[in-house]
Amino acid sequence: MLAYDCDGLTMDRNCPPLAVLPETTAEVSKVLGCCHKHRIPFVARGSGTGLSGGSLVESEALLVITSRMRKILKIDLDNELVTVQPGVINSWVTRAVAGEGFYYAPDPSSQVVCTIGGNVAENSGGVHCLKYGVTTNHVLGLEVVLSDGSVTTLGGELAEHSELDLRGAFVGSEGTLGIATSITLRLLRAPDHVEVLLADFVDMESAGKAVSAITAHGLLPSGMEIMDKFMINAVNNLFGVEEYPNDAAAILLIELDGHSLEVKAAANKAIQFCKIAGARSIRSAETVAECQRLWKGRKSAFAAVGQISSSYYVQDGVVPRSTLPKVLSAIESLSRKYDLPVANVFHAGDGNLHPLILYQSGIPGIENKVKELGAEILLECLAVGGSITGEHGVGSDKKCYLDWMFSSEDLETMKLLRVAFDPDGLANPGKIFPTPSSCGESSRRKVFLSNNGREMPAEVKAF
Ligand SMILES: Cc1cc2nc3c(=O)[nH]c(=O)nc-3n(C[C@H](O)[C@H](O)[C@H](O)COP(=O)(O)OP(=O)(O)OC[C@H]3O[C@@H](n4cnc5c(N)ncnc54)[C@H](O)[C@@H]3O)c2cc1C
Repeated sequence: MLAYDCDGLTMDRNCPPLAVLPETTAEVSKVLGCCHKHRIPFVARGSGTGLSGGSLVESEALLVITSRMRKILKIDLDNELVTVQPGVINSWVTRAVAGEGFYYAPDPSSQVVCTIGGNVAENSGGVHCLKYGVTTNHVLGLEVVLSDGSVTTLGGELAEHSELDLRGAFVGSEGTLGIATSITLRLLRAPDHVEVLLADFVDMESAGKAVSAITAHGLLPSGMEIMDKFMINAVNNLFGVEEYPNDAAAILLIELDGHSLEVKAAANKAIQFCKIAGARSIRSAETVAECQRLWKGRKSAFAAVGQISSSYYVQDGVVPRSTLPKVLSAIESLSRKYDLPVANVFHAGDGNLHPLILYQSGIPGIENKVKELGAEILLECLAVGGSITGEHGVGSDKKCYLDWMFSSEDLETMKLLRVAFDPDGLANPGKIFPTPSSCGESSRRKVFLSNNGREMPAEVKAF
């Protein structure tokens, strides 16, 4: 059970009392039917790479692990779709169809480990989601086992359906509506040509300006990612070579895809915008190996931080792209205020920030301090019209912040949907929604607000 006592949010841990590893929909149905009969709550778990405590078993509940449900059930290239069991690893989908010139677009950086079931539950994003959309744009249909053990189908193999879009409601529901046991995904044709640019800057503001200029002029890169100095140095340290310029304040990675002439023209324009914004140097990669080399550091960013710090906490907020420099400078001030290092890597094109707060576990009270800093970062995001989560979900970690964004009426309406799927509240209980017991007077949110003598920004209150 120790192997399942946390997910990627390693500071929150609890051993589940019991885990099962079903292999088929029928087995999942039998297990949930039994849970229903005995009023036993259950929590679904894929690979446990979630970063918001989604698959954490907070109280007595059965853990239902999908890692033995790893079959690719159907590949239909004529209709550009694939049907998989939920425990199939994200990158296996592309691997299964790459030879035929297809791929599966959503690519979380954890794609060599995380499951499609987990991606569906979190509505995961990734580098390519700027151009191609997040998981929900690529899920056509779902087979779901509901909390009473019954099996239902949401969506199907067609792009359009006549019924209410319950498929859309399920994607991103973080395991609170049932367990997905079979998932039909849309495949895309692999682009003819891909080019990756690496621009480096002596300050973050200039990198932010380049991002704004590129999108403002109608270019739509397939990926646009920024890493700050701390993260650049961490990555170079991990590989033992200077993957990215060590002395840069920020690097911007831009990927362009499509027909080669179109890509060439877009790359030339992107280079111009980077130069105007103040890029110090720009490298371009065109072969598959060169492109992969430029992405390797970005994809290994979290691992690189793990190499230099025993523990870290990944925050996940969204801001309007134009406010990136302002929010990043606020994060820098907060890092100084709390005396905790923060490394930044983010999906710049989507305005999706991932500040990584580094800390040494074992110091009394350190987890609270880290979470307070994380919460202040979210307040900064909300103050500029952003959101408390981009792609990592609410889970157990952020449920006490949800009412910063939503009124009690909004939250009650969302809960009605949950109750319609799961009347007894057995599926992943205690997640997503704030409850008086976990977010009441003694919640860290209130403690944090009073300790800091800080009111929520007016913009947040007005939201
Ligand atoms: C190094 C690293 C990089 C990452 N990069 C990204 C990134 O770029 N983009 C991004 O979006 N995320 C990223 N993540 C977060 C994480 O990988 C994703 O949230 C992923 O989708 C989780 O998949 P999993 O299989 O690990 O799910 P788990 O962590 O096991 O579960 C996540 C949630 O899904 C639910 N769940 C799992 N399976 C099912 C099912 N079959 N039916 C219903 N509910 C289910 C669980 O109950 C839980 O609430 C990253 C994480 C790490 C550690």
